[in-house]
Formats: sequence, C-alpha cells, structure tokens
Amino acid sequence: MSVGVAVLGSTGSIGCSALQVLARQRDRFRVVALTAHSNAELLERQAAEWRPAYVGIVNGGKGEAGRGEGAACLVEAATRPDVRIVVNGIVGAAGLEATLAALKCGKRVALANKETLVMAGELVTQAARQGGGEVIPVDSEHSAVLQCLAGRPSGELARLILTASGGPFRNWAPERVAAASPEEALRHPTWRMGKKITVDSATLVNKALEVIEAHFLFDVTYDQVEVVVHPQSLIHAFVEFVDGSVLAQVGFPTMELPILYALTHPERVPDGGVRRFDPVAAATLTFEPVSDQSYPAYRLGRAAARSGGTAPAAFNAANEVAVELFLDGTIRFGRIAEVIDAVLAVHRPSDAGSLAEVLAADADARRIAREAACS
Ligand code: NDP
Ligand code: MG
Repeated sequence: MSVGVAVLGSTGSIGCSALQVLARQRDRFRVVALTAHSNAELLERQAAEWRPAYVGIVNGGKGEAGRGEGAACLVEAATRPDVRIVVNGIVGAAGLEATLAALKCGKRVALANKETLVMAGELVTQAARQGGGEVIPVDSEHSAVLQCLAGRPSGELARLILTASGGPFRNWAPERVAAASPEEALRHPTWRMGKKITVDSATLVNKALEVIEAHFLFDVTYDQVEVVVHPQSLIHAFVEFVDGSVLAQVGFPTMELPILYALTHPERVPDGGVRRFDPVAAATLTFEPVSDQSYPAYRLGRAAARSGGTAPAAFNAANEVAVELFLDGTIRFGRIAEVIDAVLAVHRPSDAGSLAEVLAADADARRIAREAACS
C-alpha cells in the first residue's frame, strides 16, 4: 500500500519539486491533498494530474465539494486520516498551525517551512512529542546533517558547520549592496527558489533562520552551530563528532534529493532523477568566513537566537515584513537589516511556550516593523 502525502504550498518552488519527486516514486507514494494560497490556475492543473482526494486554496475558493478554502484548509489537508506525510512547502508564518496540527496527529512533517520552526521551535518540538509525530527537515543543510548523523545521538555531536552560498552580493561594496534592486537580489548564484528565501539568501537572514532551525532539530547549543561561506553550494553541511571525525554531505544543488530523503528517511530508495555527482565537474571548492559587516541582518538573527524566548519569532516577523516591503519597492535593500534592528531593539523577549504568546510576539513585531519602515 502506498503512503499518502499532502503537499502544502504545492504551487511553490518546493511544492513543484516535491511533485517532481513524487512523480518518479508513484509506486511508493500517492498524493492525497494539495494546497496553495492563490495560484488557482496551477493548482487546478496539478489537481487534474494527481486527482487528490482533497484540494485547498486559501484565497479564491469556489466552494465546490472536496475543495477547502480559507486558511483552515491547511490544517484540514494536514490532518486527514489518509495522510501519513505532510510536505510543508508554505512560505512564512502561515505554515505554523498546519505543522502543529499534523504533529499532534502523529504524522511526519517533511519541513521546508523553516520560519515556523524559528518562531515556535519549542511548541513544534512539544507537539511532536505529544502526538508522536516527527519533523524531518527538507532544508538541504539540515538534511545533510541528518544524513551525516545516521542515527547517532546528539551527545556524540561536537559541532555543525552549515554552508552558505553568500548570495549575489558576496563581492559587492557595501554602498552598492544597500541600494540593490529586487531584480538584483533575486539573481541567486546557485539555487532557483521562491522570492522570499532568495532575498533571505542575499541578506544571509536565511542562514540565521537555519542556525535556529538546527538548534531545535538537533538539540545543539548555538555555540555548536557555525556557518561558513561556500560559494559553489556543493557541500551542504559538515558534522563534527566528539572524537574529532568530520563527515560532510555533498551533491549538486537540487532540492529534489533532500525532499526525497525526507519522504523515505531513514531508508534510501533508487531515484534516477537527480544529477549524479562528479568531482571533476565540481572542480574547486572554496570556503570563507562570514563577514559580519557584509551581513548585518545575519548578526541580528544570531543575537535574537541567543536571547531566546519570543526573540526569534520577532526576528522572523520583522524580516518577513521588511522583505515584502523591499520586494514591492517601498524600502531599499539596506533598510531590511535596519527594520529588523528597530524591532529587536524594542522587543522584550518573553516565554514562547504557548501559541498565543508566539502569535502576539509575531503580530507586535509586524506592527513595529511597518512603523519603522515608514519612518
Ligand atoms: P514559494 O514562494 O515558491 O512558494 C510558496 C508556496 O506557499 C506557494 O505554493 C504559495 O501559494 C504558498 N503560500 C504562500 N503564502 C501562503 C499562505 N499565506 N497560506 C498558505 N499558503 C501560502 O516559496 P519556496 O517554495 O521557495 O519556499 C517555501 C518554504 O521552503 C520557505 O519556508 C523556504 O524558506 C523553504 N525553503 C525553500 C527552498 C527552495 O529551494 N525553494 C530551499 C529550502 C527551504 P501560491 O503559489 O498560491 O501563492
Ligand atoms: Mg537551506
């Protein structure tokens, strides 16, 4: 019997990659639910191809049978009895409730939606414990760590080193970066992804989110998570064990491999769709330290991580607002870090132990970010 999969955010970059993988693995998996935000046209095409039992659209439903609409459709899709694995490819805070609900029902969440682990890491971990669900990362660096760990307990782990491409502005002068246009920020050197994460890669906010993600996924302190700039994006992470041995996971950049692994972990299955690694074609691998001056928003994210409590939620919310305002032309690239800074300067971190507290911190940070951006 094949395993039922729900793909949340099926019309996005991760969602489309997940469907590519699932199309090659039809004997193992079947798609039983698909959701999107507003791209009804693509969602309809996917629904016609996959004939899932459930299709949900957050914005723009027509009230037909077997169709969910409004934000509630995400939880509906994620908690269906015929779903065993939820691929969460939603962007931003909107994915939180579906993740929590799926974990409480004992499902595996193949999580790309890192923002929600950052804003509510404790709640997500708790929901998994309570309901018997599990979070398996889709993010390539965390998938790499999971693959290197191969079941060893966190006590044997000494250090994680996540790699970062450095984004499109790695070699730009600071004044030029500050004035960069959305078009320039969206030209990522190694990965093709949705707009929000592409901007996050240019500010390196993405890597700050990933440091927090690693802390919650692998039960490591922030001192144990390092980042190195590796422009070729071929090594995804290094794991150092307590005896000094270091393992790394290597491959040409594609999300299809980490998506497949999140579906089959701890097993591996044959898959012909991923470009095979060739060390000669990979040529030179280079590594550089992260320059704090070039990536002020990264530094702010690490500080928020250390503050703990609701600070990561405030950091994430401030960034979501700032990126939206940058993409619509309201603020310059250099203002993203300033808006985040303004929010964190007034945020008083409190306990992030309940959904109400997390959502309040998120809403507060969004309001302050909008005010800061307009001033
Ligand atoms: P995209 O913008 O390409 O896709 C986002 C998806 O989420 C779309 O299906 C979109 O629907 C849906 N969506 C957007 N807003 C909402 C909402 N409010 N409620 C419900 N659904 C919504 O993003 P990506 O696929 O690039 O990224 C998704 C997540 O995966 C992010 O958290 C990102 O950080 C993470 N990730 C992505 C990687 C990548 O390679 N793309 C790599 C590693 C992590 P619609 O199309 O209708 O707007
Ligand atoms: Mg990543």
